[in-house]
Amino acid sequence: LEEARSRTDGAPWACYEPSMTGGSPLEQELREAIRKSQLRLLYQPIVALPDGDLAGVEALVRWAHPGRGTLDPDAFIPLAERIGVIGDLGRWVLREASAQAARWQRRLPALQLNVNVSPRQLDEDGFAAQVLAILDDTGFFPGNLVLEVTEGAVIGERASVAQLAVLSNAGIRIALDDFGTGYSSLRYLARLPVDVLKLDRLFVAELDGTSRGGAVAQAVLRLGQILHLDTVAEGVESEAQARELTILGCHKAQGFHYAHPLTPADLQRWLPAGDLS
Ligand code: C2E
Ligand code: CA
Ligand code: CA
Ligand code: CA
Repeated sequence: LEEARSRTDGAPWACYEPSMTGGSPLEQELREAIRKSQLRLLYQPIVALPDGDLAGVEALVRWAHPGRGTLDPDAFIPLAERIGVIGDLGRWVLREASAQAARWQRRLPALQLNVNVSPRQLDEDGFAAQVLAILDDTGFFPGNLVLEVTEGAVIGERASVAQLAVLSNAGIRIALDDFGTGYSSLRYLARLPVDVLKLDRLFVAELDGTSRGGAVAQAVLRLGQILHLDTVAEGVESEAQARELTILGCHKAQGFHYAHPLTPADLQRWLPAGDLS
């Protein structure tokens, strides 16, 4: 299906920019939202197990829509990908998040910043160069950036792999997001310069103390250990899950048990005291 879709996107009869032909109201609004800075970032803490110390944050985008209130990414990221503005959106997210995190690092130098990257962004030539230029502008150290990629048909392609290799060589770390949910996750492990596995919350939810329930989580974490990868569990909602993940050797955790995605002002309370000016 994904392949069929990208073939259609590239077809000559489909090459009109939606802006030329009108497009849906939401489409027009999304183009404007990026220009008029109606996008916001929330930051969800990622903590070290078992002590719960702040290790990093994941930037999660929101759209402060003038009429509809705050929209979650699931309501507009697929649209942004479809109408070809995901590149602009992604550059805005990286610039905003790295500028913010550079300020926080004055209080917590080891703070990691995780930023989500759509497979579509990796399609664009120059993606790697743009990422490095933005980090240069904002003064954010590449070694503290983690790019979270989800698998999509395109990620296996040679050009995308080459872009990730450039970023990896610059010290940026690559995380496989929602690990375990895709049919070809294991194949990506061999093809991409992966540093981090993010165990999908589906498998964390199954950690109910029975041996069957934790089977996938256990297998993924074991795989991470064998390959010497950093492991992060997503969607941790209870102390029991945190305890079980610790026993299974998971390095880090993220979820409502620790904190929801926070505004920059609220995230600041997680940092040691100090000057942020
Ligand atoms: P994701 O990367 O898997 O992000 C984690 C999602 O799980 C977030 O939803 C977060 O709010 C939610 N979550 C965190 N802890 C818990 C928990 O304990 N329980 C449950 N049930 N959920 C939890 P959110 O913010 O709505 O983001 C949804 C997706 O949108 C993200 O999934 C990511 O794929 C995408 N996304 C977010 N920001 C960006 C962005 O800047 N660029 C791109 N390309 N995609 C983004
Ligand atoms: Ca993510
Ligand atoms: Ca995820
Ligand atoms: Ca997800």
